[in-house]
Amino acid sequence: MNEHSKIENMGGCSEIPVLKERGQREVFCGLTGIIWLHRKIQDAFFLVVGSRTCAHLLQSAAGVMIFAEPRFGTAILEEKDLAGMADAHEELDREVANLLERRPDIKQLFLVGSCPSEVIKLDLSNAAERLSKIYFPKVKVLNFSGSGIETTFTQGEDACLASLVPTLKETDEENLILVGSLPDIVEDQLVELIKELGIKEVAVLPGRDRETMPSIGKKSKFILAQPFLTDTTEALEKRGASRINAPFPFGEEGTTLWLRSIKENYGISDDKFEIVTSAPRKRAQLGLKKLRTSLQGKTIFFFPDSQLEIPLARFLSRECGMKLIEVGSPYINRSLVDKDLELIEDMPVISEGQDVDLQLDRCRESNPDITVCGLGLANPLEAEGLTTKWAIELVFTPIHGYEQAQDLAELFVRPLKRKEALLI
Ligand code: SF4
Repeated sequence: MNEHSKIENMGGCSEIPVLKERGQREVFCGLTGIIWLHRKIQDAFFLVVGSRTCAHLLQSAAGVMIFAEPRFGTAILEEKDLAGMADAHEELDREVANLLERRPDIKQLFLVGSCPSEVIKLDLSNAAERLSKIYFPKVKVLNFSGSGIETTFTQGEDACLASLVPTLKETDEENLILVGSLPDIVEDQLVELIKELGIKEVAVLPGRDRETMPSIGKKSKFILAQPFLTDTTEALEKRGASRINAPFPFGEEGTTLWLRSIKENYGISDDKFEIVTSAPRKRAQLGLKKLRTSLQGKTIFFFPDSQLEIPLARFLSRECGMKLIEVGSPYINRSLVDKDLELIEDMPVISEGQDVDLQLDRCRESNPDITVCGLGLANPLEAEGLTTKWAIELVFTPIHGYEQAQDLAELFVRPLKRKEALLI
């Protein structure tokens, strides 16, 4: 084991040893989050202050059609900006003025930092404050970093939501906030279930526009729908809200435990819980039963990518019967994933961070039935005969909640079927 790797004990409830690696890593940067956030927050615009590389990443990843009016763009830092020969703030102000004049539909403008803007120490929080003074109340101007200097791409959403929290309206009323960006249909399903339990004041962060952003106060409670929201959690707690801790709502069991944590927190009766959850639970169980035979006993290896790995590993091992070999995550905030970790039996190697060559060696040696990894590793591993699943697909596909439990399992069945078909 080289100096980039060391085993550390996680301590606390599970005393699980974690293999910590700090070597070369293969993940997308936080700008990737804009691809789903610009669809989710419908009156927002994400203005990346970055290089042509950043613009290419966004354009190719989002695949926006030429006739669409996208809600993201890049203010390109040219060489003269990078060399400090031009006043980047002046140019940014001009770009923002042009944009807001052309697009009166924009009500929330996010200035998004990138590697180049951070390298030249362009202070975007200052810029956001300055521009807010000009454009507020018509437009709220915020900023966050999406740079690749951070740990992984889902941190882009975390940083974006954390930047929204200080701007949320104060309330003295009790409410429950569902936190994390989900496809609208999945969000509606989960909110509906919570309301059926008898909780009427339910809001979602991020709201779909400025008007529907939640209010927050000391009587607010929140529950995460995504496990990568460390900074957002801190910001919400700073505003006085308290977190309901739960496993994440993946699969039938995960969704039931997630809802049960809400039920217990609000003192809702077992009968009511049963009435609300029994039908969708049965549907999810039935859907999973059909696929379990294809996944039972199959081995899986997770490279670190989205921070969804630990809850997904819990789902695959407990609800689909898969055998976990290694579960890698770019960053593990144990207080957010402890409920999922506690449920994992036959503890695999849990690794945090990455030293990609060492991890590739471990993967090849264990020869898993499925390897979950980023796009950059998938093709070479397929060429070596391993069956892979693109980790990013798990972020773009609706996978939360009862109605998506079967689809989630299916995402892992498909590569196995493809492999079988190729072998025939
Ligand atoms: S933010 Fe950094 S890592 Fe991301 S596209 Fe721009 S230069 Fe590349």
